[in-house]
Amino acid sequence: MSRFSDNATAAAKDKNLQTALYNATERFKKLRADVIGSIDFESYRKKASAVKSDVIDHLSYYLDQFEKNAEKQGTKVYYAEDAEKAKEIALRIIRDNNGSLVVKGKSMVTEEIGLNEFLQKQDIEVVETDLGEFIIQLAGEKPSHIIAPAIHKTKEEVGRLFAEKLHIDYTDDPVKLTAIARKELREKFLKADIGITGVNFAVADTGSVVIVTNEGNGRMVTTVPKVHIAFATVEKIIPSIKDLSLFLRLLPRAATGQKISSYVSFLTGISKEEKKNERSRHIIFINNGRDAIIAGAFRNILSCIRCGACINVCPVYGFAGGYSYRATYPGPIGIVLTSLLEGISNRSDLPFSACTLCYACQEACSVGIKLTDMIRELRRAAVDRKSTGKKLSIMMRMYGTVFSSPELYKLSKAPINMMIQKGTKKHE
Ligand code: SF4
Repeated sequence: MSRFSDNATAAAKDKNLQTALYNATERFKKLRADVIGSIDFESYRKKASAVKSDVIDHLSYYLDQFEKNAEKQGTKVYYAEDAEKAKEIALRIIRDNNGSLVVKGKSMVTEEIGLNEFLQKQDIEVVETDLGEFIIQLAGEKPSHIIAPAIHKTKEEVGRLFAEKLHIDYTDDPVKLTAIARKELREKFLKADIGITGVNFAVADTGSVVIVTNEGNGRMVTTVPKVHIAFATVEKIIPSIKDLSLFLRLLPRAATGQKISSYVSFLTGISKEEKKNERSRHIIFINNGRDAIIAGAFRNILSCIRCGACINVCPVYGFAGGYSYRATYPGPIGIVLTSLLEGISNRSDLPFSACTLCYACQEACSVGIKLTDMIRELRRAAVDRKSTGKKLSIMMRMYGTVFSSPELYKLSKAPINMMIQKGTKKHE
């Protein structure tokens, strides 16, 4: 596996990537700065942090509450301990409904568990319908940003990609490119048996799944196919519908600099009409290592609402881009989450090479996560492990030398024998 610093060095030399990253992150930062002042950001994020801390402290209580309320209204609720289990559950639902074509809304957790690759291996066609995801699926790539998956591509690159893959004349006009994607996707929506989305918020006291989008594809994915499967990591729970107004004000402002997203879908159970048409809604809650995170010192990382603000302000992400991290989640949130999900010793280069400790992310975080402090702690943990590891290996080498030589072995036992003899005498 290549190191972050090698990848970032290569990324810094890629002119197209640098142009795309600069344009997008600067635009996001400006848009956010323009609207964040329209709310009392400090007090909002304090409240949001308190709500999410309460969720982390009482996770099973809120999950039970969600399950009860959602099932009462016809949504089927499942729990998956890990990625394999979650994919198995999804496959079972798809097979039970004779599904062969899945349309998908944007979902980072399905990236985390490798859902697309898994379903494609089972001969199930999966089509991404978020424009950014559609672009990278055509390119055979992965998202490089949590809210703007194709941030690394210039419009000219997208134009060339569409011309090659969709056999159309080249254009780099974003309006025309969007219209082309819409036309391609419309047919898929109409033919699909299954719609899969992520979840922005799962509201415990109503059993609602809330999805925030800007393209309307979320509505199509959740309402056109007969079956809707929503994937949520367990921490996506919020206690009450009353908390939602707080998050719906924070999320779009921090993510895309909008006061409100174009679409906010509330999916609460199944209506009588939908039932009559044999429609169904399912939500799969995935743990995938969250229990261990909750038990540790970095538990507040699970307060994250995936707004992407920390990524946009990060100077390192700004030139390294998302692929340098070799992880589902890039940027400051990615450094912490990846270290926790994949093991600190497995990804110990990230806290060192992918962060300047400038504190921009911590200042920007919508829910007050102490990201930079966490990255410092990860560095400390990595150094501690290394020095413990060094001490251990010196000791093991010493033992090895002693035990492989009869003379040294005898000598090493001499003080012990003396102590035993002394001790025996004392007792006599
Ligand atoms: S860590 Fe904070 S700023 Fe970064 S994505 Fe999560 S909520 Fe947004």
